[in-house]
Amino acid sequence: MQTKAFAAQSATTPFGPHIIDRRAPGPEDVAIEILYCGVCHSDLHTARGEWPGVQYPCVPGHEIVGKVMAVGAKVTKFKPGQLVGVGCMVDSCRTCGACHDGLEQYCEGPVGFTGTYNGPVGGGANTYGGYSAAITVDQHFVLAISHAEKDLAAVAPLLCAGITTWSPLKHWGAGPGKKVGIVGIGGLGHMGIKLAHALGARTVGFTTSPGKVEEIKRLGADEVVISKDEKQMAAHAGSFDLIVNTVAVPHNLDAYVSLLKRDGTMVLVGAPSSPHPSPAVFNLVFRRRAIAGSLIGGIAETQEMLDFCAKHNIVSDVEVIKMQEIETAYERMLKSDVKYRFSIDMASLKT
Ligand code: NAP
Ligand code: ZN
Ligand code: ZN
Repeated sequence: MQTKAFAAQSATTPFGPHIIDRRAPGPEDVAIEILYCGVCHSDLHTARGEWPGVQYPCVPGHEIVGKVMAVGAKVTKFKPGQLVGVGCMVDSCRTCGACHDGLEQYCEGPVGFTGTYNGPVGGGANTYGGYSAAITVDQHFVLAISHAEKDLAAVAPLLCAGITTWSPLKHWGAGPGKKVGIVGIGGLGHMGIKLAHALGARTVGFTTSPGKVEEIKRLGADEVVISKDEKQMAAHAGSFDLIVNTVAVPHNLDAYVSLLKRDGTMVLVGAPSSPHPSPAVFNLVFRRRAIAGSLIGGIAETQEMLDFCAKHNIVSDVEVIKMQEIETAYERMLKSDVKYRFSIDMASLKT
C-alpha cells in the first residue's frame, strides 16, 4: 500500500513529504489508519543522527493511535473500526526469556526487538514509524484503547512517554508511603508526575524551568524543586525512595543521588547522545544507593498502563500540530518549550 509519510532524508535535511510502502495485512496483522502520533525526543535524536545506526530516509513516530482498517484471518483481538495504539516496538523474537516474560523491550534474540522506526527488517530499509497515514502491525504489538475517541490526540503520548515512566514506577514500587522524584518535566516527565501521583506516591517534580512550577503542581506534584537552586535541593537530601530521571542531555547525577535514602534508586530513562559525567562512588556506597536504567515497557504492561489511565481519566497534556510544523516543534522541544507533548494530527498529511 502506497502511504503518505513525512521523512528526513539525512541528519541535516528538514522533514518533507515522502511515500512509503506498507505491507498488505498477513494472517496475524492489523492494518491501522493513523489518526495522531506524539512527538518524542527520541524522534529528534534519531532523525538528526544523534544516536548511532540511523538509516535514511527516516520516518520517526512511536506514539501511534488510530483506527483498525482491516485485520488478517488469524487476528482474534481486534476488529475493523476499533481504536488502537502502537508504541515503540513492532516485533521481537517471541521465544527468548525476556519475550517469554512479557518484556519484549529486553528481547535477547539475534537483533533484539524491532523498533517501530529505524528497526531492522532485513534486506534493506528499516521500519518506518508513525509520521505516516497508516501502518501494518502484528496483532501482538497492537494495544487496545478504551479512552473516548475525542481524547485520542492526548492518548497518543501514553504509548511511549506513558509506558516509559509507568514501567520504572511499577518496578521500583512507587505507591503510598513512597517519596518519588521526577526529573525534567517534558513529555516523559509530565506523565511521570501524573502516574506517580495516581499510584499514590508523594510526588516531587524537579525542573530547570521556573515558569513550569505552578503547572507541575496542577499535574499532580506535591512539591516542585528548581534543580538549579542548591538550597531547594539540599532541603530534600537523603529523602527519596525513587527518582526517575528523564533529562535528554548529560548532567551531574550526584546532585540527585545525594537526595536518595539508604537503598534508594535513581532510574535513568533519558538517553543523551553523549554520557553523563561519572557519578561519585562514595555517594553511592555509603548509603547503598543505586543508579539504574529502564527501557520503555513490555506489551502486557503497556496495556495495563493504558487501562489504568482510561480508568483514572489520565491523558497527556498536548499541543496538537500539523505534520508540516514538525521542524518548529523540534526546535521548541530543544528549548523545553512544550506543554507537554506535541501530538500530530495526521489529517494534515492529506492536505
Ligand atoms: P523532552 O520533552 O524534551 O523533555 C526533557 C526535559 O528535560 C525538558 O522538558 C526539561 O524539563 C529537561 N531539560 C532539558 N534540558 C535540560 C538541561 N540542560 N538540564 C536539565 N534538564 C533539562 O523529552 P522527552 O520526550 O521527555 O524525552 C526525554 C529523554 O528520554 C530523551 O533523551 C529521550 O530519547 C529519552 N527516552 C527514553 C526512553 C526509554 O525507554 N528509556 C523512552 C522515550 C524517551 P524542565 O524544563 O522541567 O527542566
Ligand atoms: Zn519515545
Ligand atoms: Zn526475544
